Amino acid sequence: MIKVLKGGRLIDGTGAAPVASATIVIRDERVEAVTTRAMDEWPQDAQIIDASGMTILPGLIDCHDHMAMHGYDLARRWGIDEPQSTRTLRTAKVLRDTLAAGYTAVRDAAGLDAGFKRAIDEGLIPGPRLVVSLCIISPIGGIGDRVSPSGFSCCVPNDPLLPDGVVNSPADVRPAVRRVVRAGADVIKCATTGGASSRLGHGPRDGAFNLDEMQALTDEAHALDRRVMCHALGGRGLRIAVEAGVDSIEHGCYLDEEPELIETMARRGIFFVPTFAVYDFHRKSPLPHVRERAHELEEHHVESLRRAFAAGVKIAAGTDAGGHGHPSNALEIECLVKTGLTPLQALRAATGWAAECLGREGEFGTVEKGKLADLILVMGDPLEDVAILQKPERIALVLKGGEIAAHRLAQAAAARG
Ligand SMILES: [Zn+2]
Repeated sequence: MIKVLKGGRLIDGTGAAPVASATIVIRDERVEAVTTRAMDEWPQDAQIIDASGMTILPGLIDCHDHMAMHGYDLARRWGIDEPQSTRTLRTAKVLRDTLAAGYTAVRDAAGLDAGFKRAIDEGLIPGPRLVVSLCIISPIGGIGDRVSPSGFSCCVPNDPLLPDGVVNSPADVRPAVRRVVRAGADVIKCATTGGASSRLGHGPRDGAFNLDEMQALTDEAHALDRRVMCHALGGRGLRIAVEAGVDSIEHGCYLDEEPELIETMARRGIFFVPTFAVYDFHRKSPLPHVRERAHELEEHHVESLRRAFAAGVKIAAGTDAGGHGHPSNALEIECLVKTGLTPLQALRAATGWAAECLGREGEFGTVEKGKLADLILVMGDPLEDVAILQKPERIALVLKGGEIAAHRLAQAAAARG
């Protein structure tokens, strides 16, 4: 089956300048040709889609999301305020809406079990391609340790699909990685510092894990062909993460205080996933210590992005959504533009570079011959106003592997007159 997207403005995700009046030929699940030549002869059964006045982009990618999380307050966080089935279906709705909004791939940074991926692959529910981490591996007292502010371990029954990521001793690090991989993790999520929303006493520059433990973690993950995404905001823990050779630094708010780490990241190809969107929410948190931390880190965070980008570190977009609900994932693209990237660079962070961060650049992330046809058609020009990507009514078409996952083509045609 052939589909042809005809005469749209193409932003291909490689960082190249936009191309006017491009035609994309899709055969089955892949892109067969990308051309600007006028072509008018197609097989009879080809589906021709008029893309004039619209922008063709690779399907968008979020490298840090928590799709199965639905709030920061403790009862929501631990999933004890509603039946498990209700929660599962709530998550299924997030998956469906995220795909319809133009996100064809998402890396989940803990909370989503591998069963959702299987359900999407089997066609039981619509959703993006998933790269799942299941849980956060951290030491006792780290952000993966679920002990309430009153000191109690919570009542949540153990879920075999979301293994406990708390590591008790150096000897427990490698088994923890193996347990997570056994349960279906595609990537290993760990944490070497506290964060804005972590408990009092475990803030953004407070460390978790020692270098030998983190080295064992990255060794074991890489031995099992899994990348390591590490929550690390600043200070000693951030240093240990980079030295241990993780594959991406998540948040990295105080990288500006460690110029030599930025150099190391650039040299070793370690990605930076800053997740700006979440800190806007933390700055309005009902908890004073969370608000304070989020305000304190703001300027550093912006400076960290500027310096890392200038040094040649590749940036990947991630919202860290879930705790603060599920706003449009494209909010992060706007945050990256406000922070100093051009719209074209910010789009690359949510397409080509994001796919590289996931290690999937051979399959998707750019519009090129041979790649999977994960494409979106947007009404208008996101280079003029990147915020249009947050408006569902502007997403005219979402293709995942050449199949129409969502569309508003009739409305697009009507708008064009
Ligand atoms: Zn996160």
